[in-house]
Amino acid sequence: MSNVYLNGEIIPHSQAKISAFDRGFLFADGIYEVVPIYNGMPFLFTAHMQRLDRSLREVGIPQTLNHADWRAIITQLNSAEPLENSVLYIQITRGSEFPRNHLPSANLTPTVMATLSPFPPPAGAADAVKVALLEDIRWLRCDIKSVSLLGNIMLKQQAQALGAVEPILHRAGRITEGASSNYFVVRDGALYTAPNDALILPGITREHVLKLAREHDIEVHEKAFSVAELYSADECFLCSSTREIMPVGYVDEHQIGNGQVGPITQMLIDLFRQSRPNCA
Ligand code: PMP
Repeated sequence: MSNVYLNGEIIPHSQAKISAFDRGFLFADGIYEVVPIYNGMPFLFTAHMQRLDRSLREVGIPQTLNHADWRAIITQLNSAEPLENSVLYIQITRGSEFPRNHLPSANLTPTVMATLSPFPPPAGAADAVKVALLEDIRWLRCDIKSVSLLGNIMLKQQAQALGAVEPILHRAGRITEGASSNYFVVRDGALYTAPNDALILPGITREHVLKLAREHDIEVHEKAFSVAELYSADECFLCSSTREIMPVGYVDEHQIGNGQVGPITQMLIDLFRQSRPNCA
């Protein structure tokens, strides 16, 4: 990742500089997006771009680049430094202004940065991991992919200290999502995940898993799940663009199912891998 796109130019990352008065730095006033690229092909590109547009709209940052512009930027970044599998990170802040003021001036020029990082797509047998149940301390607009991730970072640190790979979060006993993933549980052959409301990020992987499940006649429900229901689920997994489908064997000391990768989870892992662009 030695080249980056910054405000219209592809430059070496060591030369990528933004103002100390950038609102992203001062106020975490910005949004981001993450697109996995398999074998040079962005996966679920339109869905990611639509979520990017929505994040911008929700916080009132103008959209300065369209989907075709983003495709061209990916091509430029990739040809500067070809990577077979990579992840595109897009960071957009409202821009910079002096003096600092919580309330932004009108007509600021957004700061736009994009990088490609190497991405080894999950391959081989998946292992069931341990997650830690923690109270969701984040704000109430988790549907916006904001760069304001301090809550998520604190929760990830707590989970790590508990020997877990990811926190699974709840608000008043209702499971919301992971700190950088959505969750699914399987009970009696049906698949459950939290509804798409302001308490979760509308995960692109979540939506894709729901589609794959529906196409293969797995019953799906988008409904709030309680902690007690989670503990007694047959299977559980987390999902995200970079982790794809990550089976959960334990929530703290509570074993989920037999603690191994369950049959419906395995079926969805196989379907997911078949659906992504060929990246052997
Ligand atoms: N929830 C949160 C809080 C996340 O940060 C992410 C990953 N960015 C997800 C869910 C999963 O989203 P996606 O499948 O689009 O990567």
